[in-house]
Amino acid sequence: MHALLLTSCFIAALLLSLALKYWLATRQMRHVAAHRDAVPAAFAATIPLAAHRKAADYTLAKGRFGLLSTAFGAAVLLGWTLLGGLDTLNLAMRDLLQPRWGDMAYQLGLLAAFALIGGLLDAPFELWSTFRIEQRFGFNRMTWKLYLADTLKGILVGVIIGLPIAALILWIMGAAGSLWWLWAWGAWMGFNLLILVLYPTVIAPLFNKFEPLADRSLEARVQALMARCGFTAKGLFVMDGSRRSAHANAYFTGFGAAKRVVFFDTLLSKLSPGEVEAVLAHELGHFKHKHVLKRIVAMFAISLAGFALLGWMSGQAWFYQGLGVEPNVGAANPALALLLFMLVTPVFGFFVSPLLAGLSRRHEFEADAYACAQASGADLAAALLKLHEDNAATLTPDPVYVKFYYSHPPASERLAAMRHGVAAAA
Ligand SMILES: [Zn+2]
Repeated sequence: MHALLLTSCFIAALLLSLALKYWLATRQMRHVAAHRDAVPAAFAATIPLAAHRKAADYTLAKGRFGLLSTAFGAAVLLGWTLLGGLDTLNLAMRDLLQPRWGDMAYQLGLLAAFALIGGLLDAPFELWSTFRIEQRFGFNRMTWKLYLADTLKGILVGVIIGLPIAALILWIMGAAGSLWWLWAWGAWMGFNLLILVLYPTVIAPLFNKFEPLADRSLEARVQALMARCGFTAKGLFVMDGSRRSAHANAYFTGFGAAKRVVFFDTLLSKLSPGEVEAVLAHELGHFKHKHVLKRIVAMFAISLAGFALLGWMSGQAWFYQGLGVEPNVGAANPALALLLFMLVTPVFGFFVSPLLAGLSRRHEFEADAYACAQASGADLAAALLKLHEDNAATLTPDPVYVKFYYSHPPASERLAAMRHGVAAAA
């Protein structure tokens, strides 16, 4: 009975989320296409018509591609679950590995096989996006050689870091009694904190070169800004983002005294020193308002709820049967439960995404306000426009689509809020 109820809920949620995604994507594409041939009045003096049209075409190309990959993703999800893909893979890996090598080898083998097949299924979409869409709009700098090297390194990092944490979690799930989910959550959180420390210093340098910022006058400017805002960072670095893409960015990573500022070389080549300073002031605003800390605390809380839910469901036969899998008899079930859980929760999680996006947009306004107070608001506005134009981001998104998906407010709203803030301060 329970199994049938879960199957119905799952199908209903999947269909509803698909319908919603299609409705939103079509709205967005129609809205952007309708505004393709006129730059909005507020930007008429700063954005050329050709750039505006390019942004519309880029948004439409990505939108059409998004529809295709959404449909494919739903088909793959059904294939894994109700159509029996995971069940078949599970039986094969179990019969192959469990009798000779035991439960742990079988479970790790199942996770690895699933990751490999999932990666192969996703690869054509990733390739099309990079070498077709990004290429067509002049953003791609990735070569086949670099793509292959990235893939191999990614697999290596996954094996070195992913396998031990997976083995630890699986072991806890099998050995720690009925409160295993609490211990597993603790291990998972410890792992995440470790990654936060290791990522900037060990993992990111495997994929990119980081060099100390060589521009002395910019360095002095940035140091003065940080001193003014009460920040210390271990270093200012320039990353060779241009190896893969023309898109520009800057970020701030690490904890406590290990914090470092990373500028993409593409950002430094496009913005004036004042604009770079304003962009960094915006990032510092996120720290000043504790957005980063809030995000980490939220992630901790959501994971705890997730592990508690998994702790309850992994012990129920209907959880497996309702999603198209027969639980093992005489072999361990944790890996199977983990995979099913990771496959299915995003379908339900989609419905809360507007909440998270809305919170994120509020944080962006707060960071902008902070940047306007600590650096030049005019420079921040100019940087925002340049980055919008260079990334071919549309200036005319559909308002409902924005509510659902946008982690950053549209440029028009950010600029209006900045003008309002500057006027209020004057
Ligand atoms: Zn931001």
